[in-house]
Amino acid sequence: MRELRTAHGVIQLPAFLPDATRGVVRAVDSDDLARVGVEGIVVNVLHLSSAPGASVISSLGGIGRFMGWKGVVACDSGGFQVYSLIARSANLGSVTERGFTYRLGQGRAKETLTPEKCIERQFQIGADLMFCLDYCTHPEAPEEVQRESVERTVAWARRCKEEFARRLEGVEPGEPRPMLFAVVQGGADRDLRRSCAEELLEIGFDGYGYGGWPVGSEGGLVETVEYVRELVPREFPLHGLGIGKPESIVRCVGMGYDLFDCTLPTRDARHGRLYVSTDGFATLDEEAGAFYEHVRIEDDRYRRDERPVEEGCDCPACRGYSRSYLRHLFEIGDAAGWRLATLHNLRFYARLMAGLQSRR
Ligand SMILES: [Zn+2]
Repeated sequence: MRELRTAHGVIQLPAFLPDATRGVVRAVDSDDLARVGVEGIVVNVLHLSSAPGASVISSLGGIGRFMGWKGVVACDSGGFQVYSLIARSANLGSVTERGFTYRLGQGRAKETLTPEKCIERQFQIGADLMFCLDYCTHPEAPEEVQRESVERTVAWARRCKEEFARRLEGVEPGEPRPMLFAVVQGGADRDLRRSCAEELLEIGFDGYGYGGWPVGSEGGLVETVEYVRELVPREFPLHGLGIGKPESIVRCVGMGYDLFDCTLPTRDARHGRLYVSTDGFATLDEEAGAFYEHVRIEDDRYRRDERPVEEGCDCPACRGYSRSYLRHLFEIGDAAGWRLATLHNLRFYARLMAGLQSRR
C-alpha cells in the first residue's frame, strides 16, 4: 500500500484533499470533514497571509489548532492565484525575478511574495506538505513565456529549498518535519516539461506536482499530464494540482498520480450538484462519467422524493434526510443545505479514493 507519512498522520494514497483555501472548506467545519473520511486538506498561503495573517495563525499554534483540524494540511504556494490575478487584470499583479507583486483586488494593498517569504509563511501556518512558489502560464502562451516560466519556477524552487533547509537546521533526522514539493511547469511543450522536471529532480524534493492547466479545450486531460508522471520516478509522490473531476482522477491514478485537490466537489455541492455512484464504485469505468451521475437537487422532480441522495451512502445527508428535504433547504436558501450537500460530495470522493486504493 502506498502512503504518505507526515507529522500529522499517515495518508493512504491515492488521496483527494479538499480545498480549504481560507482555512475552511466552505459551509462545513473540521469535525464534519473528519466524519466523512477526509484525511487532509489544502490551504492557501496567499489567502491566509491576507486574512487572518500567517503570524496570527503562528501565534495561535498553527493552522491545525486554529481550525480544530487534526489531519494533514497541505499548503498551496499561491503561484496559481497570482497567475489568475494577472490574467484577470495586469493591474492586479506583476512578476519579476524576485517574485510576485500582487493585490488581491482593486483598491487592496500591494503585497509581495518571494520564494523565501512563501516558505517562511508556510512554516508559520504550520503546513505538513509545502509547495515551492511556481510561475504558472496559460498552455497556449508563446514559447518564450513558457521558457521564462520554467526558468523562474526552477530558480524559485532552488531558493525555496534553501529557505526550507535553513528553517530545518537543528531538526534531527527521524524527527517529524514538513515535506517540500516542487511544481513541474512547461505548458504543452514536452521538452520544457522534461528540462523542468530534470532540474527540479536534481535539486531534490520530497515530492512533485503537475503545474499549469491540466484540462484541454475538449474537457479532457492534456497529454503532458501523463508525460510528467513518466518524468518523475515512481518513488516520489506526484500531486495533480487542480485535477478533480472523478473520471480525471481515475485516469490519473491509472497513470500513477497520488494526490489531488480541487474546488470542484465542494463548489458543485453549493450549487446543488450532487455526485451519485451508479454501482457503488464497483467498476470505476474510466469512460467519462460512466460510474457516476449528477443529481441536481433543486430539480422539481425531487419535490416529493423520499429517497436519500444515494442509497448506500453513509454520509450525514444520506443517513438522515430525503432528497425532498435537501431540495427544500436549497429552495429556501438555508446554509444547512450547503453543508449537507458538501458532506455528501466529500463522502463520494472519499469512497472513490478508497475504491482506487484497493485496486492498487
Ligand atoms: Zn451521501
